[in-house]
Amino acid sequence: MRLSDTILITGASGMIGGALRRILQEGHYTRLLVPSHADLELRDARQVEAYFTKHKPDVVFHLAARVGGIHANNTYPGQFVYDNTVIQANVFEAARKSGVKKLLFPGSACTYPKLAPQPVQEKELMNGPVEPTNIAYAAAKINGIIMAQSYAREYDMNIIIPMPTNTYGVGDNFDPKASHVIPALMRRFHEAKQKSLPEVVIWGSGAPLREFIYVDDIAQIFIFLMQNYDAHDIINAGTMQEISIKDLAAKIAKIVDYSGKISFDATKSDGAPRKMLDSSRLFGLGWKPQVSLSEGLQRMYETHFTRIAA
Ligand code: GDP
Repeated sequence: MRLSDTILITGASGMIGGALRRILQEGHYTRLLVPSHADLELRDARQVEAYFTKHKPDVVFHLAARVGGIHANNTYPGQFVYDNTVIQANVFEAARKSGVKKLLFPGSACTYPKLAPQPVQEKELMNGPVEPTNIAYAAAKINGIIMAQSYAREYDMNIIIPMPTNTYGVGDNFDPKASHVIPALMRRFHEAKQKSLPEVVIWGSGAPLREFIYVDDIAQIFIFLMQNYDAHDIINAGTMQEISIKDLAAKIAKIVDYSGKISFDATKSDGAPRKMLDSSRLFGLGWKPQVSLSEGLQRMYETHFTRIAA
């Protein structure tokens, strides 16, 4: 990837896309294409092909996807599988026809088997059943990974496939019905503090372990791989650090300065018991995370809540 390249980011209005756009701009990449949903309907193959023919991107970060937490995945599986399957197929095909030089397509930690040995190595993909609450999203992503690798092989395309662990940060989705655990809890603790509520309820047992990566770190990994990695084998992108949902809740409560009781609703699903990626291949290329969980949570809280509270 060169400074003179025309770079398309699909999903630039999303959390990772937004961070990527900012970091590329700071790095003096000036030829950025960042179409909004209104500019380009990615579910429409003809529109996507026409866009690629007209703008001729050299490099594509294909980040647009329908994403959501455990509740949204479980409630709208049809939308998750349709939108993601169609969008990625349209983008890969348009990239093939227009001769894109390099394309990045992120997989997801949730495509790995629910009970894969931890930390999860890249070779575990499709080695067992995935977590049922996000099977539709995972199936679309697996389809995308296989399609990307098949296109790379048959058409000699340069497609890279990082596998991000759970990503959080500024620009996250705070809608309680769709959000992942970090924005959901940050919002719940913040509102509980504002209303002086005596108790905050966390879904599930609190026991599941999760690994989290700050959005700027993921964006930096994507740029690093664009510059330093040319294989179409999937490559894990995490921090190699994990935390229980219970400890995460306590950490967020501290940042929000909430001192009430934290309790657990065991009728809600825990999802996968543990999700940590083995990112030693990425670390072996020389990359290290820059933003700790405490620092990332603090940045996120200050950006999204403290101004509202003041
Ligand atoms: P997952 O990593 O795919 O399971 O996605 P989530 O971020 O949605 O959930 C992570 C874990 O946090 C699961 O065990 C959830 O049950 C738990 N959790 C606890 N409270 C909440 C909440 O308010 N919202 C969400 N999304 N998850 C929660």
